[in-house]
Amino acid sequence: MARHLVTSALPYINGIKHLGNMVGSMLPADVYARYLRQRGHDVLYICATDEHGTPAELAAAKAGQPVAEFCAGAHETQKEIYDGFGLTFDYFGRSSSPQNAEITQHFARRLHENGFIEERAIRQVYSPVDGRFLPDRYVEGTCPHCGYDKARGDQCENCTRVLDPTDLINPRSAISGSTDLEVRETTHLFLLQSKLQGEVEAWIDENSKEWPLLSTSIARKWLAEGLHDRAITRDLEWGVPVPADTWPELAADGKVFYVWFDAPIEYIGATKEWADAAPDGETRDWKSWWYEAADVRYTQFMAKDNVPFHTVMFPATQLGVREPWKMVDYVKGFSWLTYYGGKFSTSQQRGVFTDAALEILPADYWRYFLIANAPESDDSSFTWEHFAGTVNKDLADTLGNFVNRVLTFSAKRFGNTVPAGGEPGEAEAKLGAEVTRLLTELEEHMEALQYRKAANALRALWSAGNAYLVEKEPWKQVKTDEAAAAVTLRTAMNLIHLYAVVSEPFIPASAATLRGVFALDGDTATWVTPEAAAALDAVPAGASFTVPPVLFAKISDEDLEGFRERFGAGSVD
Ligand SMILES: [Zn+2]
Repeated sequence: MARHLVTSALPYINGIKHLGNMVGSMLPADVYARYLRQRGHDVLYICATDEHGTPAELAAAKAGQPVAEFCAGAHETQKEIYDGFGLTFDYFGRSSSPQNAEITQHFARRLHENGFIEERAIRQVYSPVDGRFLPDRYVEGTCPHCGYDKARGDQCENCTRVLDPTDLINPRSAISGSTDLEVRETTHLFLLQSKLQGEVEAWIDENSKEWPLLSTSIARKWLAEGLHDRAITRDLEWGVPVPADTWPELAADGKVFYVWFDAPIEYIGATKEWADAAPDGETRDWKSWWYEAADVRYTQFMAKDNVPFHTVMFPATQLGVREPWKMVDYVKGFSWLTYYGGKFSTSQQRGVFTDAALEILPADYWRYFLIANAPESDDSSFTWEHFAGTVNKDLADTLGNFVNRVLTFSAKRFGNTVPAGGEPGEAEAKLGAEVTRLLTELEEHMEALQYRKAANALRALWSAGNAYLVEKEPWKQVKTDEAAAAVTLRTAMNLIHLYAVVSEPFIPASAATLRGVFALDGDTATWVTPEAAAALDAVPAGASFTVPPVLFAKISDEDLEGFRERFGAGSVD
């Protein structure tokens, strides 16, 4: 038994996330956390909404709400959806929490004491009409590269080039539309990442040996380009205030830390939120997970655009603090899930969003499809045709049909108890060996965080049940040899119980239904070792069972047509 800390990249607060966001961070983290818990490990799975920054302020303004109120509502909305997906966060926090403010300020003070933070004057756009500086997206104008006239101050959506607000031609305020803008000098805190480059490189050399290529290649590319000193504060209303004890003038000017600095610190902040939210009588030691926590294995999950922040920038912050905070042991990065080969887009509402997904089908359908097609080594594409095909074949035909056939037939011929009589023979021994082999594979792939391969092994386990039924044909056996049919059905029911246990990380709601089929006293097994699984004897003769309703409804051609129509399909862009 080991202690496992698991975090998934923080979903940003403005808007509902799409399926690509789900499969790129939270869902695989949940599958891993569930698996580790089943194996008896001590697991803490932490996530939170990322709430600071310009997009949150602008989204709140658009909604006509104060930003704090907007974020509180949006946090609840996201949390409900993730509950609907069966995500088992130990805590789902908020980066705007007082806990995060406290730890962020502590980190900043320590970085300052250690000589890694410096005040620098920069030139920034100021709007006299709005009475404020206009960072990032608060300025719009014409892109100097491609001429697009709605480019934002941080990036041009048309040509994707990263911009500085002062680059824009004909700039205007995104708040008031005012073109009466000037460039003024303002002072900000800079994190001197350039001074930490060597330490980050040494840390990567030492710690990334087992990481997937996607994670290490991105980290190496960033390091090769050289770490730049970066501003970690902004002139915004909404954010962690610069502490007045260390920087009285900047604090008096209302400067706040910028989102990229405080967001990763929220992994720690949310863990303290978890501890502070402990019910009466329960003690939660947040610090034991993060401080001098050599016994903890820490795994992070994120899509590739977040890899630089987690492999280079946050480690630079942690190293510069010069305190023994837990650093990541394994970074699982993901490529993109595309929608018919094009981009899912939050701003253009293209693709399938997590709220709409749950409206049309149960979470297990999405969980299984997304994990079985996780964009691990390369991008993978969502199409309705592929999705329906996978659900119908793997879930409805292979798993669901097996369960239903076995239980319905046995109930009809032997009543609602597991049939007794007969002895397992050669076919059962062969099946047991196959089960051991496939379960060993499943374990190896889960330990290695290889999701597609793990899903393949699980699917093969389900198929093994069907192959066994085809071989034994209990509906024929029962006519000539009732005891032989009893052995077959009893063995098949044991497979159903095994599926209930080992499918749980992937399709937890369906696994719970399967667990409920048998009324077994003391059925508390959270996992079955490959060796023990071979016996297929956890469910004894005489145990009662119920036939559950159909586990997975097939997606019909009519459904498919409706989905294509509602969400759009075919080529995009
Ligand atoms: Zn452009």
